[in-house]
Amino acid sequence: MDLTLYNTLTRTKEQFRPLDRENVRMYVCGPTVYDHAHIGNARPVIVFDVLFRLLRHLYGADHVTYARNITDIDDKIIERAARDGVDIDMLTRQTTQQFHDDIRALGVLMPEDVNKPGEPPRFHEPRATGHIGDMLAMIAKLIDKGHAYAADGHVLFDTASMSDYGKLAGRSLDEMIAGARVEVASYKKNATDFVLWKPSGADQPGWDSPWGRGRPGWHIECSAMSAALLGETFDIHGGGIDLTFPHHENEVAQSRCAHGTDIMAQVWMHNGFLQVEGQKMSKSLGNFVTIHELLRTEKFGGRSWPGEVLRLAMLMTHYRQPIDWTVKRLEEADAKIARWRNLARVAADQGDAASSSEVVVALSDDLNTWDAIGVMDRLATTRDIAGLSAAATLLGLEAALVAPQTAELDFDVDGLIAARLAARAEKNWAEADRIRDELVEKGIQLKDGKDPDTGEPVTTWELAR
Ligand code: AMP
Ligand code: ZN
Repeated sequence: MDLTLYNTLTRTKEQFRPLDRENVRMYVCGPTVYDHAHIGNARPVIVFDVLFRLLRHLYGADHVTYARNITDIDDKIIERAARDGVDIDMLTRQTTQQFHDDIRALGVLMPEDVNKPGEPPRFHEPRATGHIGDMLAMIAKLIDKGHAYAADGHVLFDTASMSDYGKLAGRSLDEMIAGARVEVASYKKNATDFVLWKPSGADQPGWDSPWGRGRPGWHIECSAMSAALLGETFDIHGGGIDLTFPHHENEVAQSRCAHGTDIMAQVWMHNGFLQVEGQKMSKSLGNFVTIHELLRTEKFGGRSWPGEVLRLAMLMTHYRQPIDWTVKRLEEADAKIARWRNLARVAADQGDAASSSEVVVALSDDLNTWDAIGVMDRLATTRDIAGLSAAATLLGLEAALVAPQTAELDFDVDGLIAARLAARAEKNWAEADRIRDELVEKGIQLKDGKDPDTGEPVTTWELAR
């Protein structure tokens, strides 16, 4: 099976060829843990979870290694802990726990689902604070090789020391300086130089280093963790599109210069942004919504939403496109799942898991999840439950086929049928047809007839075959 992936580095869709087929390696930038993750943060987590599942399917579960980090040292964390008067450790631990609860509900694989006792771990979730030693070693190496310098208690990466700095972002040095949100500081040699290490005040978390007590810059965290867990070069590096510059550009600069390699990762993948009802999500616009709020409160659309509905809604758009997160989208995903579930609930185990291969084909085309969902719809229509369930596993939508706990239909069939009969009695054919279509969409087949005794119209139903 040919897997093609769009590579930000080359700006083309390329055939994927792992550096080592025996160990396909992927790194994805994870959250900075100081507050509930919002639904935009869920996008890279879900998208790369699908890719992880696909890679495991294509190369074998024991031949794929995935690292998704937790950034647990960052100025935003320090500020939040100070604002709320809480311990940093406590803040990052609680936020990580919340994050885990949220993404588990979204059907995302966790290390404990994947790693087997006595075997090398295939899924790492490194915390930045667990790799400070690796970061210090990498910074020292960069200084040794003339790619970094200490100044004013800081260590900075010397961007002029790398001839193709800016290649990933596709920007020239002038553009980077002009567009840069890079901090201007007197101790920098070049405006685009960035911090590898910075001093910590007595009230800030810090580690001893040859350059004084301090803490790492954000970019060096990912370079050090990916090298420690995946090696100096690896296959796929992912994250949201906003991370391309400066974060990923700087990761590339650090890793390539420290290791003396031509690449850091072969393929750089970036998910598009999520906006809400047509607008950028922001606290000031009041449309900021967390995963937790969607799952557990009625803040969005006046109801809470099951994790599988949120996940399907996310996958209904190709990962590189922007997503407009709307109530309508969630309702569509909800209806789709209700239909699959109702079909799966009554069908005998028929079909063949091999028929899910069309889903593999769709996903292998740069993760075309929309086509994959179309295949699932067709498998549902043909009642190929084995195929449907294999497909659901690839997309992480297992929960979408499991009947809700009550094992009852999650809508009122009899009520809808009565409403349709009432519409027919009033000769409101349009409404009657609409209700019938709604029921068909949910997997219900109607049979109209007459009561043999009274001659009154009656409708019976069964789940569609
Ligand atoms: P952060 O915690 O801000 O570093 O973000 C964690 C991940 O979420 C990164 O990969 C970001 O690119 C991604 N991300 C943040 N906001 C959005 C959004 N609105 N849409 C999609 N991805 C996002
Ligand atoms: Zn990163």
